[in-house]
Amino acid sequence: MPRPAIDLFRKTFGTTPRAAASAPGRVNLIGEHTDYNGGPVLPIAIAQRATAAIGPGAPGDSGVLEAVSTRDNSVVRVKWQEELPEGWAAYLAGVLRELWSLDVVPPDGSVRIAVASDVPIGAGLSSSAALAVAAATALAPSLAPRQIAGVAFRAEHDHVGVRCGVMDQTISALGKRGHALLFECASLEATQIGFGARLLLVDTGKRHDLSTGGLNQRRAECEEAVKRLKIELPELAWLASWPVEWLPRLKRALREPLRSRAVHVVSETARTRFAAQLLRQGKLKQFGKLLYESHESCRRLYECSSPELDTVVAAAKRAGALGARLTGAGWGGAAIVLVNKTDKKTAPAIQRAFERAYGRPAPISEVQASAGAHAERLYRQ
Ligand code: ADP
Ligand code: MG
Repeated sequence: MPRPAIDLFRKTFGTTPRAAASAPGRVNLIGEHTDYNGGPVLPIAIAQRATAAIGPGAPGDSGVLEAVSTRDNSVVRVKWQEELPEGWAAYLAGVLRELWSLDVVPPDGSVRIAVASDVPIGAGLSSSAALAVAAATALAPSLAPRQIAGVAFRAEHDHVGVRCGVMDQTISALGKRGHALLFECASLEATQIGFGARLLLVDTGKRHDLSTGGLNQRRAECEEAVKRLKIELPELAWLASWPVEWLPRLKRALREPLRSRAVHVVSETARTRFAAQLLRQGKLKQFGKLLYESHESCRRLYECSSPELDTVVAAAKRAGALGARLTGAGWGGAAIVLVNKTDKKTAPAIQRAFERAYGRPAPISEVQASAGAHAERLYRQ
């Protein structure tokens, strides 16, 4: 759906864009809070996408970014090298800075970017990575998807200051239709695994903003846990690399809350690799069980769930769904529910339970594993 971004570009800047590209949001099947701990994740790209239409800056401008989004239609104008804009345009300035460091964009380059996206913001579906990956793909079509993912990751992590891992940008850049991506965040090994199961997405309507709050605190706790565990195992580089059969030793070495955080990361790492294996073998029932286990670990040990998410997962379990869990960091956002192809009762059961508890509906949609970032045509065929 590139039209809204292209139309917005024309309307705002009075010219035709030079290029456009789109990139998807994502849903993580399993592997929560493992990415920044050097563990595996198993996301799919979803159908909702961000599109960026780009073109050269106004004549006479030097080093200027002009950015507009369908979200508010007002133009942000900033010298992208010298100042980081407040708010969303910081993602774009970060992308430009990273492309400059790769010599893809000249230091005095001026650029206009119009953005449209149907990835809901702050719903745990990674609207931020979709935005950054779409912009990077439009600006640097010669870069490989992995390089695009790196540019978008550093834009968000180093420039905007969200202490995210590399998962969101990687799946947005590398996603493949009908596939989940097993991505090992320490070795960067990426394996496509066929995924055609039926998956529901339940939006709790509770929004999070990851640039503040829980995520940064959890990251600090994980870093602290690694520091202490290095006394036991000096070569430990990542928390996720702690051997799972050494969990008793880990428990002895750490106090709460570091102990619970670390047990979650180490067991979630083993769970995710096992889940990928089960998916490859088509063992959906056992795969679903691991989703429930993952949610329980997020809720009890990592304490990143919310009452709304717990309501959805409990209702899914009661209705007989194969599996369910929060997805995308937690503290609100969305839950996924794995159901049989013929299942008709899980969605209404979740809806009833949610309405009873919160007096409002929770939108439920079906998600399919969709394509990663790609260039868009500027003209209708
Ligand atoms: P999410 O889980 O959706 O990625 P984040 O808090 O990481 O949540 O990122 C949301 C931020 O991304 C928004 O506050 C905004 O700065 C930016 N963003 C995402 N999509 C858009 C858009 N279409 N237009 C403008 N900004 C956007
Ligand atoms: Mg995000």
